Amino acid sequence: MYRIDHWIDGHTVSSKSGRTGNIFDPATGQVQGTVGFADVDEVDQAVANAKAALPAWRSTNLSRRAEIMFNMRELVSANRKEIAALLTQEHGKVTADALGELARGLENIEYACGIPNLLKGGYSEQASTGVDVYNIRQPLGVVAGITPFNFPSMVPMWMFANAIACGNTFILKPSEKDPSTAMFIAELLKQAGLPDGVFNIVQGDKVAVDRLLSHPDIAAISFVGSTPIARYIYETGTKNGKRVQALGGAKNHMLVLPDADLDMAADALVSAAYGSAGERCMAISVVLAVDTIADELVAKVKSRIPNIVVGNGSDPSSEMGPLITGEHRDKVAGYVAGAAGEGAKVVVDGREGAPSDGFFLKPSLIDHAQPGMKCYDEEIFGPVLTVVRVKSYEQGLQLINDNQFGNGTAIFTRDGGVARQFQFDVNVGMVGINVPIPVPVSYYSFGGWKASLFGDLHMYGPDGIAFYTRSKVVTSRWPDPRTSKVDLGFPQNR
Ligand code: NAD
Repeated sequence: MYRIDHWIDGHTVSSKSGRTGNIFDPATGQVQGTVGFADVDEVDQAVANAKAALPAWRSTNLSRRAEIMFNMRELVSANRKEIAALLTQEHGKVTADALGELARGLENIEYACGIPNLLKGGYSEQASTGVDVYNIRQPLGVVAGITPFNFPSMVPMWMFANAIACGNTFILKPSEKDPSTAMFIAELLKQAGLPDGVFNIVQGDKVAVDRLLSHPDIAAISFVGSTPIARYIYETGTKNGKRVQALGGAKNHMLVLPDADLDMAADALVSAAYGSAGERCMAISVVLAVDTIADELVAKVKSRIPNIVVGNGSDPSSEMGPLITGEHRDKVAGYVAGAAGEGAKVVVDGREGAPSDGFFLKPSLIDHAQPGMKCYDEEIFGPVLTVVRVKSYEQGLQLINDNQFGNGTAIFTRDGGVARQFQFDVNVGMVGINVPIPVPVSYYSFGGWKASLFGDLHMYGPDGIAFYTRSKVVTSRWPDPRTSKVDLGFPQNR
């Protein structure tokens, strides 16, 4: 048994609130640790320290900020096996997946290494006679990030790398289900040379989140999690005058056209639906199969499922680990249990043969689903792939565009013209063409549409820099050295 607490002003601070949460080992189902939950005073302490660290940090030159990010890149890389082991220990994902998560997170630290270039403004000489105009991007102040359980290293990196590099100080509220990775990252940031107080962690639940949402010294909040909470964070944070980007849930559809390479599509479906036990916001959870190839595609996916090795994530032979909690496992199993009663056909039932220790489910495949069925309408967030048979490209597109979510989508086809039309027509933020999980590289930005994102700016990349800074435009005139005459008239161009 171990205990996890807060990270404030460069060191661990024990919670005195008396409220704690259990940290489970999802592979055994046993409690392995506890995490202290912050009360309002503890959040206030973290915010006060972040505020105190702000003046010196925002004055730190860009070269030094970049150097710290370069150092951090090396440290994360050097410690990747330890971090991956922590991810597996608390989240349950298999080692290869944990290393993959970390690699995608690290991209964002690499992007932030370019901060001197990223913060360059524009300059217009002689906008009016003797007048120059330029813009500078300045940090917002103390900003907070609230993150979900499913990517305990990558999603915090989406946020803090750019936030800090832009000159803000940062408070992270990680998921209470797997809080250890964030503490390890905090130690590495300190080793990288980040001054104390620039990066802080408060552990906890709604109490901590609500205090961050109402604290007058928090300028902005980045959130990633489920749609109901994302909506709440956006509405409450903006009402309190904060800048908010809140990414929510998903129901990602893959449209498979008759001309697609069906083996390629089936391989992609298996990895995109069942990888990380389906607990990815970019997982494919629905395949729209055009009637003429639907039987063949379902058969190809079905034939691949028995090859997926389900087991403890730390076992190198495992390809899919457990779900995060027993409660979540039961909820996911409930969708499979209810599908037949709604008129769908359960082709593979993942409740059968799952390891009995821990929070395991094996992959499930549900065919003949329709809108109106729970297994289609709701985000399942588990290893369940639902097949909807469609008559045409148009019907498939309509289903995607009618869906409440718009995070990711993919089309599998050999027809470039149709793929291009799809990218033009589809109301989804991230689109894959023969790519099942189109998570953008760190120099683009990540974000869904519709109920998958509340706010105006996407996460990381150029939008991340825009989110964590505000623009100031300076209009300047200096006395002409030849005349030294000051003109008090209103500036104009004509
Ligand atoms: P969640 O919404 O339950 O929790 C996310 C964060 O919000 C956690 O830090 C949690 O402590 C906090 N929280 C939970 N309930 C709260 C409440 N009532 N008030 C205030 N704060 C609260 O999400 P989760 O279960 O940790 O993660 C899974 C969800 O996240 C899925 O819906 C998934 O699609 C989504 N997700 C989305 C993206 C994306 O980029 N769009 C990425 C990853 C995960």
